[in-house]
Amino acid sequence: MNKDSRPRHLLRRLHTLMADKKDGQSLLNEMVGIIASNMAVDVCSLYFLRDDGILELFAAHGLRQEAVHKTELRIGQGVVGLIAREGVPLNLAEASEHPKFEFRPETGEEMFHSLMGVPIIKQGRVAGVLTVQTAETRQYAEEEVEVLQTVAMVIAELFTSQLVSDKNLKAVSVAAHSVTISGKVLAEGLARGVAVFHEPKVDIVNVTSENVDEELDRLDSALSLMRQQFDDMISGSDVAQAGETKDILETYKMFAYDRGWQEKITKAIETGLTAEAAVERIQQDLRSKMSQAHDPYLRERLGDLESLSSRLIRVITGHYGDEEHHRLTENSVLIAMNMGPAELLDYDRKLLMGVVLEEGSATSHVTIVAKALGIPVLGRVKNILVETQEHDPIIVDAVAGRVVVRPSENIESTYGKSLGERASLLEKYAAQKSLPSETKDGVKIDLYINAGLIIDLESMHETGADGIGLFRTEFQFMVSATLPRMEEQKSHYSKVLKNAGKKPVVFRTLDIGSDKIVPFLKQTSEENPAMGWRGLRMGLDRPGLLRYQLRALLESAAGKELNIMFPMVSNVSEFKTAKALFHKEVERLDVLKKTKPKRITLGTMIETPSLAWDIEQLLPEVDFVSIGTNDLFQFFFAADRGNPELSGRYDLLSASALRFLRHMAQQCQQHNVPVTICGEMASSPLEAMALIALGIKSFSVSPSSIGPVKMMLRNINVESLQSFMKTALNGGEESLRKPLLDYARQNGIFD
Ligand code: PEP
Ligand code: MG
Repeated sequence: MNKDSRPRHLLRRLHTLMADKKDGQSLLNEMVGIIASNMAVDVCSLYFLRDDGILELFAAHGLRQEAVHKTELRIGQGVVGLIAREGVPLNLAEASEHPKFEFRPETGEEMFHSLMGVPIIKQGRVAGVLTVQTAETRQYAEEEVEVLQTVAMVIAELFTSQLVSDKNLKAVSVAAHSVTISGKVLAEGLARGVAVFHEPKVDIVNVTSENVDEELDRLDSALSLMRQQFDDMISGSDVAQAGETKDILETYKMFAYDRGWQEKITKAIETGLTAEAAVERIQQDLRSKMSQAHDPYLRERLGDLESLSSRLIRVITGHYGDEEHHRLTENSVLIAMNMGPAELLDYDRKLLMGVVLEEGSATSHVTIVAKALGIPVLGRVKNILVETQEHDPIIVDAVAGRVVVRPSENIESTYGKSLGERASLLEKYAAQKSLPSETKDGVKIDLYINAGLIIDLESMHETGADGIGLFRTEFQFMVSATLPRMEEQKSHYSKVLKNAGKKPVVFRTLDIGSDKIVPFLKQTSEENPAMGWRGLRMGLDRPGLLRYQLRALLESAAGKELNIMFPMVSNVSEFKTAKALFHKEVERLDVLKKTKPKRITLGTMIETPSLAWDIEQLLPEVDFVSIGTNDLFQFFFAADRGNPELSGRYDLLSASALRFLRHMAQQCQQHNVPVTICGEMASSPLEAMALIALGIKSFSVSPSSIGPVKMMLRNINVESLQSFMKTALNGGEESLRKPLLDYARQNGIFD
């Protein structure tokens, strides 16, 4: 290796300069000069982000000096503002052609064409922007971008160590004001607390090092230590209980051995960076790749790698340890760019009120786990890392989709009231846990929970639910790095059955596709994925996948009760084909003389209008049905269930929807086939009341809805309700929402 490679030479010169203890401004002036000459460019400019969110030009080589401390840009304004907002480099052969380009006459930059800029990132937040320009039109090489990124890291180090103590350069400080930022609700709920950064900002104190071998050794030992930590966690007793945690940790471990990643870090060390700075450099590249990646699988993997990088930095700098996750105080709200599910599981659930992410998606692993834990999550919250300081008071409204940082007294008291009401309601729900779920006139209503992870079993016990009415088996696939093999599936289902004890569990076979993305199964892009190749359609086209799953289910339920249903069935023949496949697997058990389940029931979801209208033909074939109102009504109303613009547009309590459901309920009654509603509709007390009025007596709801639904049903009289519904459905109203609400009020049902 050439010890005096250009980047190393540049870093050394910058370091010597910094050691000179010059005053802040002359230091910066010299610095931009050195960078420009080393990189053979005409201009080098340095912008810092002030506390008031304005980027100010602090030093420039090659531009008019009058512009220094005069040129200002907002975040997102111009090319420089864009780099700050996105936090990723820009490499433009002809800057003026960029739609964001804004010409600043005071700088005299009209003669420059190319522009490359990188963010200066300090403790995970953008602290400024460093740019270079040339008079010629040219694209910068990838190595040049990397050099500038490395230099930006050195400047970030300087930013706190020297600049802040220099009075002349001290950023303008404005009083911290309240900000409200909107985001996407990933896991519903309300939370109030203080902000805690998930990535405790490890201050990388030493960015450069002369001793490459020593840094490589530090990297090696940190990597070994980290791998060891994963091994310990995987074999730890906590993990043995939660199957999915183990899968997640295995994914991390796999990445910890990724050669490509290690090689990149090694190369960065060879340019003169310390081990920790090298990991951070590569992490910045990952972030920039992530911002451009549209493939959800790729984004998810890059996200995993990013959280692994943060972990590695903490290990290298000696900041990794148990104390980290004890940093949570009472009522903490975690703030992060992104977070892996394993990290979320590391926190103390009792102290954790909510999570706010700059990134995050509804299908990301952390969201799935947070939902299971009942922690509200708001994602896609732009600039939350910049706008928040550690310990700021914060309100997460993951219902309306916004977060309020440093709320005013008014807002605080409004939310305080809702949270207080919520807390006392929760107490009331908890108090009715062991009371029977029976109506006033003694009708038993079965209340099950919807689940998908082993940790959901806790909710089943906590809420006193009758069992699991829908176990979404695809969740195991969604949180695994590789296709769960038969044995892994079997052990997963065995754990579910063991934890459920005597309570019944209805397993739904894989419903992959649509919003349920499985990383390792490449989906072709479909115009209408909700109506595409998903659920049982995939199972019948890939019978191997379905048969292995059925085999795993049968074997895990040896000597026990096994209930299975199929998703997204469009006609009776599909169900019959699936049933035949299942019976082949049962015969296989006979041939092998393996123990069979002591009782088997086979049913189907009703999620398509075609199957709903074919119910008379279907019922003789099944042991039970479960109506999936989430999908069924998106097809019924032709309204995408995931589109917020449409939510609330069509009423599930419209007479048309209720008559449709009544038809199914009546048919099931006539054929004596049990019917459950497992879509979200049943999770709302008013809707559940309407369903009871239609004659349905079994619901599978999200765990947090057991309390409210049970409270409602213990206040109703089924006979009176059913006769009310009969009249109401003939009353000619388009929606029965209001009449039902009036009925509930008059009868004190929601008191
Ligand atoms: C449904 O569609 O109502 C349902 C319960 O299935 P999922 O939400 O998993 O699609
Ligand atoms: Mg569905």
